[in-house]
This record gives sequence, C-alpha cells and structure tokens, in this order.
Amino acid sequence: MPKQILANLLQQALYLNSSDIHIHPAQTGSLIRLRISGELYPFKVLNNSETEKLILFLKFQSGLDIGEKRLPQSGSFESQVGDEKIALRVSTLPHVNANEGLVIRLFRFNHFIPFLKSSIFSNESSQILKCCHNKTGLFLFSGSTGSGKSSSMYGLAELFLAEKLQSIVTIEDPVEHLNGNFLQIAVNEKAGLTYSELIRAVLRHDPDILIVGEIRDQETAAIVLRAALTGHLVLSTVHADSLAGILTRLQEFGLPESYLTQALLGISHQVLKPLYCPLCYGTCSLFCTHLKEKRTVLYEQATRKETIHSLFFR
Ligand SMILES: [Zn+2]
Repeated sequence: MPKQILANLLQQALYLNSSDIHIHPAQTGSLIRLRISGELYPFKVLNNSETEKLILFLKFQSGLDIGEKRLPQSGSFESQVGDEKIALRVSTLPHVNANEGLVIRLFRFNHFIPFLKSSIFSNESSQILKCCHNKTGLFLFSGSTGSGKSSSMYGLAELFLAEKLQSIVTIEDPVEHLNGNFLQIAVNEKAGLTYSELIRAVLRHDPDILIVGEIRDQETAAIVLRAALTGHLVLSTVHADSLAGILTRLQEFGLPESYLTQALLGISHQVLKPLYCPLCYGTCSLFCTHLKEKRTVLYEQATRKETIHSLFFR
C-alpha cells in the first residue's frame, strides 16, 4: 500500500513539476505539500497509519535506520515513474510532539531547461555561451542558493557536448542533477575527498570541461586557476552577492591578479525571478499550466577583459 501511495504521489508531483515533496506531521496524520517553482502548496492529507507506512517505506528504500526516529537522517534511492527514471533524496527531521517530518527532493535525470532558454533575455545567456565557446579558462557564476547556478553550468556544458564529443567531469557537494553524459563525482570531506583533492585527481583523467560546484577556500581556488591555465574550460561558482563581489572574493583567496586576468573568461551573477501569468493575473493555482516555466533567470555578466578589469579596480 505505501508503495502505491508513493507511486501516485510521485506521478502527480512530477506532472506538476514539483522540486520537493514535504510530508509535514500533524496530530492526526500528515499534510503533504509540494514545492513548485519555489512556492509551497498544500496538496493532500494522509491519515496516521498511511503516514507511518509511507515514512517507513521511504526510510527503508533510502537505506536509513528505520528504528531511529529521534535523529535527522538522509539517504537516497532511484525510482521509475512511468517511463521516467528519477532519483529521490530523502531527509527526515524529528518534530516535537508529532511524527517525523520528511522531505523528498526530486532529481529528474533528463529534465532541465536548455541554457539558452533559461532566461527570457536570451542575449545575456548567448553572451555567456559565446564567451566560453571553444575556449579554455575560467568562467565563474554567483547567485543565491537555488538561483540555478548548477543548471546554468550543466546547460552550458550540454551545449558544448552537443557540438562535439568531450570529456566533462563535475565535482559537486552534493551532486544535484544527475546527468548520464558527464562523469560526476561527489565531494566527501569525511573520506578525505575534498574539492582540491578531487580536482587534482580529475586533472590526471584528461577532462576537457571541468565543473566545480563551488570554490570556497584558497586551496581550491589555486588549483581551479591552475586547471584553467593549463588548457581546460573550468566552470565554477563563488559565494558573492554581485559581479564586483565575485572579484572581491577571488582577491580574498589571494590569487595573483596577473594569473586571474589571464585565466578569467568572464563572470556572471544570476537571480531567479517569477514570471507574471497574464491569464491568471499573477495568481496562479497549483494546476495552472499556462506558462511552461513560471520563473526565469536574469544574468548580469561581464565577459569583456576591460569590463572585468574595471570592476577589479573600482
Ligand atoms: Zn496562471
């Protein structure tokens, strides 16, 4: 029975383009909520026994300790929904005075927006594409969590791959989009697999394009720069709130400016904005299908050496 409940839930969640399913515990059962285009929508109610069985089933499937209800746990598994294969990342959280809460993040293998369609202002994305096309060097993205930075990097790499066969390696913490065309490696700091260690290993693996989830320390920054200067296209992100912030961050990592100007192809800061649905006057229901995508990425980018240089010396 829980298997059937989950199958129905997944089918409906995918149909509605949900990114997450929340099982929110309540005294008499649970509320199922779906996250769609960044917004959380109430979806259905399950009674106590259905909730318990479903949570047990999900914990079992994702390799969690089914007897443990007081500690947060997370795991994952893959599932087939119709003809689509998806991955589910399950995380539990104990709630006071109620059942465990559980959130399922849905990862669709071949379901992403092509890079050139990610923004309604396609001249910005084309500019980024042009800047990295057939080049070696470093292109950096920034933007808040959930603004689609990894989608941008994946989308770009997909375009290059469509043109010619290339070895594309991604190093991420965690891997967010599963993509059969790339060699994907997850950072595991506990096991000593840090970003810098992995990049070193990957560089011996003859990659053409390297996607590095995030540069967050000096060591990683230095090795990313080295990769960019030795004939690879490196796409990565840094934590910054603006274009100029990206450069400040790079300077904080102590990278020599001469190497940076040599390696840096361009930088981009992105935000995700909701699109206005004219048919619902902006107040779409859960089931509105007027707009294929309800959000768009806005890129602010600097791809000319002079622009980057002037941002450096503001
Ligand atoms: Zn609408």
